[in-house]
Amino acid sequence: MIERHLYKIITIGSAFVGKTSLARRYTMNTFSYSYIPTMGVSWLTKSLSLTKEELNENLSKNILTDDIKVRISLWDTGAQEIFGFVRQKYFLGAKVAIVVYDITKTATFDDVPFWVSEIKKKCSEIPIILCGNKSDLTNARTVEREKAEKYAKENNFDYIETSALSAENVENLFSHATRLAIQSEEEVLKFRKPFIK
Ligand code: GDP
Ligand code: MG
Repeated sequence: MIERHLYKIITIGSAFVGKTSLARRYTMNTFSYSYIPTMGVSWLTKSLSLTKEELNENLSKNILTDDIKVRISLWDTGAQEIFGFVRQKYFLGAKVAIVVYDITKTATFDDVPFWVSEIKKKCSEIPIILCGNKSDLTNARTVEREKAEKYAKENNFDYIETSALSAENVENLFSHATRLAIQSEEEVLKFRKPFIK
């Protein structure tokens, strides 16, 4: 088991899509039905271990040979703040970006290219995971999974649908983000295959 220090993972996306809820579900296993205003920038940390099998799961060949334990810092901010003075610092040193939208609000999906362009401006070539949140609200869905998946594939983003409420895929989202962070450090991302959940 190899131990690594802090990897920075950022979440970004329009207001109310569930960025804060996802981070809280993952790090504290809680959920709140009310909106939790995100003041400035907040970050939560968590330690996790990935086996070598898990680390190679999305690679075209088995390259990583050790289980790795890491600590991640999960960055979260309000959509307002990102336009203010924190902008530079928020993106600085990020290894992976998670772009979240709400599957019941088409406008938040339409905003995705804007958030992606912000990431591309501020961070060089970091991997991006597109995350459709609120998968529990099946009846209210307005963004078809096929459409989002197609957009993700065309842009070389991974794709996952989550629910901070039911916890569906939340663990998978952040463990995959961590795996990508480790892979970026090991310079094996060129062997990356699409990851769709
Ligand atoms: P943020 O602005 O992106 O940080 O969004 P929040 O995490 O504050 O969530 C906004 C609202 O959506 C709150 O009322 C949450 O309770 C709700 N919410 C967040 N995630 C989910 C989810 O997966 N399912 C449902 N049904 N509601 C959610
Ligand atoms: Mg928030």
